[in-house]
Amino acid sequence: MRASGRCPKCDGRMATGFVVDQGYGTAHVSTWQAGEPKVSYWFGAKQIKEQQKPVATFRCERCGFLESYAN
Ligand SMILES: [Zn+2]
Repeated sequence: MRASGRCPKCDGRMATGFVVDQGYGTAHVSTWQAGEPKVSYWFGAKQIKEQQKPVATFRCERCGFLESYAN
């Protein structure tokens, strides 16, 4: 993961963070999944754990721009 830098839009400071997936009483870090989504009515989008990466998201403190990395 890179250190937080400057916003490409306005040169503001980028703060480190992550996007939270809110569940029913739970919270998860958003995850990048390789490949096309295979969505099931019963189970939602199919997951292949070996092909997933947690998503780190930087947010510009000036304009709110979000920049995400899946390392
Ligand atoms: Zn900005």
